[in-house]
Amino acid sequence: MSQLIPSDSPNAHLPVAILGGGPVGLAAAAHLLEQGLRPIIFEMGESVGHNISQWDHVRLFSPWSQNMDAAAVRLLESEGWTGPDPEHVPFGHELRSQYLEPLAAVPSISRSLKLSSKVVSVTRQNVDKVKTSGRNELPFVIRFETANGNQDELEARAVIDATGSWNTPNPLGTSGVEALGERAASDQVFYGIPDVIGRDRARFQSKKILIIGSGHSAANVLLDLALLQTQFPDTELHWGIRAATPEKYFGGEDSDALAGRGALGRRLHELVDSGKLVIHTSFRTRSIKEQFTNWLLKVFHPSPRLSRGLKSMKSLPARAHARTSRS
Ligand SMILES: Cc1cc2nc3c(=O)[nH]c(=O)nc-3n(C[C@H](O)[C@H](O)[C@H](O)COP(=O)(O)OP(=O)(O)OC[C@H]3O[C@@H](n4cnc5c(N)ncnc54)[C@H](O)[C@@H]3O)c2cc1C
Repeated sequence: MSQLIPSDSPNAHLPVAILGGGPVGLAAAAHLLEQGLRPIIFEMGESVGHNISQWDHVRLFSPWSQNMDAAAVRLLESEGWTGPDPEHVPFGHELRSQYLEPLAAVPSISRSLKLSSKVVSVTRQNVDKVKTSGRNELPFVIRFETANGNQDELEARAVIDATGSWNTPNPLGTSGVEALGERAASDQVFYGIPDVIGRDRARFQSKKILIIGSGHSAANVLLDLALLQTQFPDTELHWGIRAATPEKYFGGEDSDALAGRGALGRRLHELVDSGKLVIHTSFRTRSIKEQFTNWLLKVFHPSPRLSRGLKSMKSLPARAHARTSRS
């Protein structure tokens, strides 16, 4: 890190700006402090781990030993912190309460932390976009917005972007852009991992739900929805996947290098075998539109062989859609 941030820089008196107070941003701050550098952490949420707080109810797939950074642990231990069982696989809320929040409370971190401060731009001091000469020597200017909508700026010698990917989910459209009508239907699409057996249950119980996506987030939601279905048997589950068969989404199962990830794949496999959900293979979303009181998806299937799925999806009177896109 000291090679990336040279000490002979004319801006050496300025802090290093870290954008994001998640696990990566806080770990970066711990490393900077070990190197004798001064971090300043901008976090848009009211507390650290703000993105994770939106999937508090989900268990990670990696154990504690793989979720903590060595420099962060050294800093925590210097304050008398005792770490969790390294073999235990935590939930999102445990990652925050047992690791991120104690780390944020360490004095050297807490005085570097600017909460409720959303970074809206990063530029170089006093130059516009087209000037390149001498640009590298100039300080960065971090513009941020606070909860009351006010904006302010701070200068930094270097910038570390640790904002994660949670706030930029993939759009539904097949070609990496929004499906036609997706924006108009945004109230009906849940991007992320809803808490379907807790906080968000009323939105999903006894509904016909289409889950689009095939990563770990989709697996978690499908398993929770299957649980909801046992309480509300008229809840109908549909899963749209790009592949022609679902097998590859089960991962390593019992032979997976990570036990938690393997268990997720195995449970998903069991759910598929149970026949409790309808799978739509070679699924591509082209458009989404409202018809009468229902939402219809127009689906494009690359293979005519799979047109049966197209027919059933076109007639799907979906009242609510869960959609996930992350790994
Ligand atoms: C359900 C689920 C399970 C997962 N399980 C695992 C697992 O088992 N193992 C694993 O290694 N990974 C797992 N991941 C991936 C996990 O999200 C990352 O490993 C980890 O959270 C990445 O940390 P991060 O700091 O890069 O990003 P994030 O945790 O997303 O943190 C980014 C932070 O930046 C803040 N931010 C964003 N934009 C701005 C802005 N403009 N200005 C200021 N602040 C901003 C956000 O509020 C947030 O606090 C999982 C993800 C999900 C969704």
